[in-house]
Amino acid sequence: MKPDPPKLNPYFPQQQYDSSSGGFQQIDNVRHTLSSLSWAKDSELLKLYTLTIPKGQLPYLQLLEKWTPTYETPAKVYLDEAKGSKKNQSPCMYPGGCNGKQKVFGRPADLERHYKNVHGTKDKFVCDHSKCPRSKDPFFRKDHFRDHLRDFHNEDIGCAKGRTKDEQKWQQAQKTWLAERVIKPKHWRCSRCLVKNHVAEVGWECSSCKTPCEEDRKITRIRLEAGQAAGVMQDSEVAEPNAYFAQLVTGAHGLERDGGLLG
Ligand SMILES: [Zn+2]
Ligand SMILES: [Zn+2]
Ligand SMILES: [Zn+2]
Repeated sequence: MKPDPPKLNPYFPQQQYDSSSGGFQQIDNVRHTLSSLSWAKDSELLKLYTLTIPKGQLPYLQLLEKWTPTYETPAKVYLDEAKGSKKNQSPCMYPGGCNGKQKVFGRPADLERHYKNVHGTKDKFVCDHSKCPRSKDPFFRKDHFRDHLRDFHNEDIGCAKGRTKDEQKWQQAQKTWLAERVIKPKHWRCSRCLVKNHVAEVGWECSSCKTPCEEDRKITRIRLEAGQAAGVMQDSEVAEPNAYFAQLVTGAHGLERDGGLLG
């Protein structure tokens, strides 16, 4: 869906193409704000931006990397400053309305923390599957990235959805889920921090958060690797759904541990 162009502003800052960065650089020092650009509070253009909150400075909207800045959508757009508010009574100026419990803050640091916690995007998660469209369009929520890895790339993190009280039914669901997993023996993804770990480089402890790889996932990979070395599997790029893994984790031990991971 393409956003409607905003109302034309009588003042367009000059921009020039910068070949070293491959982008348009603003060559003036105009500080764009929501009101200087005449954006409505609920402008569709806001979807192209993420709120950036530099420490001790005014927050601004940063154009997402995949978009090229234009006159209408400059790289940085500052939030409007609150007018007519009392000293030490700084309201949240996030466009499109604030859904925080508290909306007015006595200390700038509190407002800054509010922007960060309620409106900010602290981290971004770029999908590391090279041909994936989300490798250029990051996730801003870890749980969304996790869902993407599990449901779109069929990685073996977490477990099947819809855990039921019916143990037999659940084991069947889990077995089906495991059979659909795409498992590459040369690496594993930390189910906690979602970092991809290469076995040859870091072994079985996450390079980022030091969480060890789950035993059943480790064994599956070791067996797959051994099978490949013996010529059982020809194409290392195509990891087949495997019986080992299914057998391993249908045991009560594996299931309990995997279920616990989601908590
Ligand atoms: Zn707010
Ligand atoms: Zn992806
Ligand atoms: Zn980790």
